Formats: sequence, C-alpha cells, structure tokens
Amino acid sequence: MIIILQPNIDQSSDIYNNVLQHLSNLSKIEFRVHNVEGAHQTLTEIYLIGETTSIPLESISALPGVERVIRIADEYRLLGRHYDHARSTSFEYNGIEFSQENLHVFAGLCAVDNRVNVERMMKALKANGQSCTRMGAYKPRTSPYSFQGHGAKCLPYVFELAGKYDIKVIAMEITHETHLLEIQMALQQTGYPTGIMLQIGTRNTQNFELLKAVGKQQTFPVLLKRGFGITLEESLNAAEYLASEGNTKILFGLRGMKTNAGDPHRNLVDFAHVPVVKRLTRMPVCIDPSHSAGTRAASSDSILEICHVTAQGIIAGANMILVDFHPDPANALVDGAQALLLHELPYFLEDIQIARQAYKQRLALANRFRKEHNIT
Ligand code: PEP
Ligand code: MN
Repeated sequence: MIIILQPNIDQSSDIYNNVLQHLSNLSKIEFRVHNVEGAHQTLTEIYLIGETTSIPLESISALPGVERVIRIADEYRLLGRHYDHARSTSFEYNGIEFSQENLHVFAGLCAVDNRVNVERMMKALKANGQSCTRMGAYKPRTSPYSFQGHGAKCLPYVFELAGKYDIKVIAMEITHETHLLEIQMALQQTGYPTGIMLQIGTRNTQNFELLKAVGKQQTFPVLLKRGFGITLEESLNAAEYLASEGNTKILFGLRGMKTNAGDPHRNLVDFAHVPVVKRLTRMPVCIDPSHSAGTRAASSDSILEICHVTAQGIIAGANMILVDFHPDPANALVDGAQALLLHELPYFLEDIQIARQAYKQRLALANRFRKEHNIT
C-alpha cells in the first residue's frame, strides 16, 4: 500500500505527525517514508509493508494530509504504476526535468578518447542547443585486450569542458561502485561544472551488488539499460533494486536484444516495448538506437537505419535518446562503425522533431477518441 500525502507537506506539522502516529498504531505493519523531488513539487509517499490487506483504504484516505491511497501489486512496488495514472513520472536533476511526457537527446562519444574530440563534440552540442551528452570513461568490453576506457584519468577534462559548453547532464556508464567515488571526487575537484547520470550497462543489469550501491546514493540519477538476454520483467525488477535502496530517479533504457534473429543489425530492436514500460512503471524510457542497430548503413530510401529506429522509438513515446556520435569515427577507439558524424547532428535533431510531432499528433488523436467515446 502506498499513501500519497498532499504535495509539499510540511514534515514538522501536526497533520504529518498525526498520519505517522496513526500508522505506528497499526499492528504488523512497517512503513517507510519516501520523498519524491519533482520539478515543481515534493511529494511525500509512505510505503506500508506487512499485512496491509485488512486495512480499509478509507480509514487512511480520510486522514487529514492524505491525498490518496493506492493498493499495490507485489511486482514493481515502488516503480510500478499500479493502475494509478495520476502518479508522478517526473524528477528533476541539475535543472533538467525527466518524465514520461518529455524528450531529451544525449548525443556523444561512446568512449572518451582524447580532449580534442571531447571538445569538438561538446562544441557541436552547444551550437545545436543541446545540454545533455553521453561520455564513456569506463567501458565494459567483450575482450580483455580491447581498450577499457580512460577511466578516472579523463574525468577532470571531460567535466571542465562540459562546464565550458553548458552541458548539464552527462550519461556515463560505471561498472564498479568505486567509479562512483572517482566521479564524485572529479566533480569536486573541478567545482561541479556539470551533472552525471550514472549508466548501468546491459552486461550489468543484474549485477545486484552494483545496483544496490548505485541505489543507495541519491546524488545521481540512473539510466538502467535492459539486459540483452533476459526478460523485460527481469530487467524491470533490476530497476526495482535501485528504487528499493532509495533512489527512484531512474530512466529505463531499451538497447536491443541479443539474438541472431535481428541480424544484420547488432541487436534485435526492441523499441515496441517503450509503451509497455510506460504502462507498467513510472520510469521515463530511453532508447539507444546506436547499440541496437549498430551500423550507420543507409536504407534504400537514403535514410540512415539509426535514424529509422530512432524515429520508431520516438513515435512510440520515448523520453530519451542515447546516441553515439564521433568527430572521426574511423579512428574512434570503440564502436566507430555506429557513430554518427558531427555534421549530421542538426539533421538528426530535425528528424527527431518530425517523429516527436507525429507522436504528439497521435496522442491528441487518442485523447480525442477517448473523449468522444467516453473512455476513462
Ligand atoms: C554503451 O552505451 O556504451 C553501452 C556499452 O551500451 P550497452 O550496455 O547497451 O551495451
Ligand atoms: Mn558502445
């Protein structure tokens, strides 16, 4: 059971304390208070654990200060929608709002190679009005002999350059909890010029100890990628691990599934699951067209296949695009074959807008239809 209190409730007020007092008197029930910082308000939610089935909803919803009470299913306790479409899906980080309603583009380097390329990338982003990027410093590689990323070494110049070009959020994969500390130290050392969204890659979706460590901190939001060879349910439960440790600022990333049935793409594109994740949970959904398609091949209609799959994800309601760009893909240290070129950035962004407009029109049409047919 989740009790949602009135927005911005004062936690030192009598009203608030009376609610807690009431809950403490319930037998065989434990509760946990969770604050959800939205862009416009703070929501206080109280999770009741234990024998909640015998508690009548009305006895709680009648308490002053309570906005509403939701009975939840066992699965995705914290992140699930539980058929309550009024629950907030948004959170704010470093001045940027993430939600199931909006869309952000994180174009950038799969792997940081050198300062010059980081600067070329960020300069292009700023010139195109972008305030988010992706920068890989810790790279999980299939072969132990492949480049593993520059790690902590590159963080200071990446962060400084982000500050110089007004980049507010960098998506950065970490593969071990010690990387958290390295990121925190580099941010401190450079004076917090930017923000970080921690990325959990597909190889670590079920690395439960890493999930717990990342879930325990609430400084950084998390982009959790779907596991490439597990069910959607298993991946959503992995997200729930993060939430159960206290961090609910999570985006869920679709990045394709490993199966040769998707050949010649690198992975079988799974963007049809965008609306499914939005229906089941409150997480904004990210798509990664680069690691899904894995090639910058153009189709016979002259549109790049990466642009095609990006549009497919957006028209299905995606909220974030994580995409590889590189100033010189032929010499990129990781995944050059799927990187888009810097001069393609304005084209890519314009193509995104076309798909986004189409999504908005579809949304308006669906709402009109529901209204005309009195569908609630
Ligand atoms: C990446 O985004 O650089 C990456 C390695 O992605 P994934 O975990 O989806 O393979
Ligand atoms: Mn990559």
